[in-house]
Order: sequence, then C-alpha cells, then structure tokens
Amino acid sequence: MEPPGDVTAREEVGGLDTPVLPPRGHLGVPFSSVGSPDALADEQFMRLALVSGEAASAAGDMPVGAVAVRNGEVIARTFNMKEATGDPTAHAEMLALRDASRALGRWRLPDVTLYCTLEPCMMCAGAMVLARIGRLVFATRDPRTGAAGSVFDVLEHPTLNHRVSVTQGVLADESAERLREFARALRSRKRRGSQ
Ligand SMILES: [Zn+2]
Repeated sequence: MEPPGDVTAREEVGGLDTPVLPPRGHLGVPFSSVGSPDALADEQFMRLALVSGEAASAAGDMPVGAVAVRNGEVIARTFNMKEATGDPTAHAEMLALRDASRALGRWRLPDVTLYCTLEPCMMCAGAMVLARIGRLVFATRDPRTGAAGSVFDVLEHPTLNHRVSVTQGVLADESAERLREFARALRSRKRRGSQ
C-alpha cells in the first residue's frame, strides 16, 4: 500500500545512494526533519536502520538498529551492542544519541530525528528526553518494555518539560519479522545446546 503523503515531496526525494538536497517544506525546513515528516523519507531512513540492526545479531544481540538524521542527512548509524560489549546501556538508541552529539558538538538535539527499529525502552526514551530530540520514528512496538506508549509513555509525559514528537509503525512488519527470526534462531540454538 502507498503511504500517505505529499506526492510532490515524494518525487523530490532520491534513493539513499543518490546525493540529493533534502526537499524543502513550506517554511524552507527540510522534510524528514523535525516538524515536517515525510512518509517516504521516513521509510528510507527506517530501512537504513533495519540494515544497521542486522549487524547486531552477529554477536548474538537482538537486531535493533538506529539512525539519527538532521536536515535530511544521516549523522549517526548504530546497532544494539549489549552482548558484544557487555555494556547494559549499549542499546542502538543510546549509541546513536552519543554519536549524534559527538558529530554536532552539543548535547541538545532538538533538530534531530531518531529512527529506531523497535520502540525504545525506558532508559533510551529517558535519554531522548534529556537530549531534547525533536522527533522519534520507530517501527514496531515492544509490548514488554516499550516506553513510547506501550508500557510507559516517557516521551509525551505531561509533567516533563520536553516532549518528543513520535511517529510509529514505519516498516513495522519488516522489523517485527526480523525480531521473530532472531528469537526463533536463539531458541533453536538453546535447544541444541541443552541436548
Ligand atoms: Zn533501550
């Protein structure tokens, strides 16, 4: 099914490998940046996050990927490295926030959109609020630990002084299928290990 959106804007967006200027919205603000979501650009960046996430499973990490975008440009691209590094905070989103801050030389990221293949946990959602990111786009919900509405709603909490604009469901089925595949492989490895 075609995603809804501005047809003109979609035609202006090139493939990820094509160097194109980000299309401009009515206030001169590029699409896919904060406040001017564009469905096709969202899909392209999410696809990139999905590809990033694949690298995680090589080390036995759940395949979760993240991409940070500013003005239509990718400034960070990361994947879950919890098992690979033995660091409980090495979630894809945390690493993306760190890399994005390093790239921009500041901790406030109101002009950054973060694309994540899975709904963020409490830690990552908390870090997004602390970093004041402008927008989060995530693929599939996490009914067990999701903190963007599923279990908690950290990003749009009424008492916090910063709220993150959230778009969910972009390439949700593809992300969910990858997570299911990973879980299946993990189960069969464990079964073989216990025999
Ligand atoms: Zn997390």
